[in-house]
Amino acid sequence: MTDFSTITACGECCVGCSKKIDGLCPGCIEADGRVPEWAQSGMCKVHACCKEHNARFCGLCSEFPCDKLPQMISWNPEIIKHLSALRDEYICSSLSGKYTVRKLSEADIPKALSLCEKNTLYYQYCPPFVSEQSIRDDMNALPPGKTMTDKYYVGYYDEDRLIAVMDLIIGFPDKTTAFIGFFMTEVDAQGKGLGSALITELTNAMSGIGIKEVRLGWVKGNPQAEHFWKKNGFAETGATNETDKYTVVVARRGLQ
Ligand code: SF4
Ligand code: SF4
Repeated sequence: MTDFSTITACGECCVGCSKKIDGLCPGCIEADGRVPEWAQSGMCKVHACCKEHNARFCGLCSEFPCDKLPQMISWNPEIIKHLSALRDEYICSSLSGKYTVRKLSEADIPKALSLCEKNTLYYQYCPPFVSEQSIRDDMNALPPGKTMTDKYYVGYYDEDRLIAVMDLIIGFPDKTTAFIGFFMTEVDAQGKGLGSALITELTNAMSGIGIKEVRLGWVKGNPQAEHFWKKNGFAETGATNETDKYTVVVARRGLQ
């Protein structure tokens, strides 16, 4: 597991660098970007840009992956891939202190289906009933203007047991908002505080990366969903979205 306190703005780690060990460079975190490599310009441009964007490292910036990154970090041709992997690790690990959270893939679909198909009430209000294909479709679905970089279709694992699934889009519908498209815990865990605990951790995690608001929707008339989200601090915005089968009530929660 990465120790993010040692990760620099550009996604490097100064620990173990021979220049630092030999006292030739203080390390850019310690020196706030003012290291010998960048003495001429005063401060490393990547470090300065992260400060300006209030991002711990580029992968957590609301502009990531910006057009200037490949040129700013020209010494690493795999920089977007490298920072994306760090971003995923940082975000997934911040979603739960207790469970292992990771982006779900094709191999997880049978477990996700098994979790979802026991929640029959949900699909009464939100048809059609879940299938392997509907999970696969949701896993790849993106709202307009977003890419897979911002999509976290994640599973919460208690060892090898999948206990919850969430579809989260960061930076939608605007840069400082996160959108929960789907959230479901296993039926046996419902009513025991698990869902609320995971939402608390999610809101803390989003707040930590500069997100100011979380949005979601519930199907009008689903009392269980409405009660859960209201209990967790979400309030109706007054907006609704119509589909041919049901009406979605849009709700939001502001973050500190
Ligand atoms: S490029 Fe900038 S952020 Fe990256 S290690 Fe060097 S000084 Fe630090
Ligand atoms: S992702 Fe781009 S805009 Fe954001 S801090 Fe890095 S260099 Fe600057």
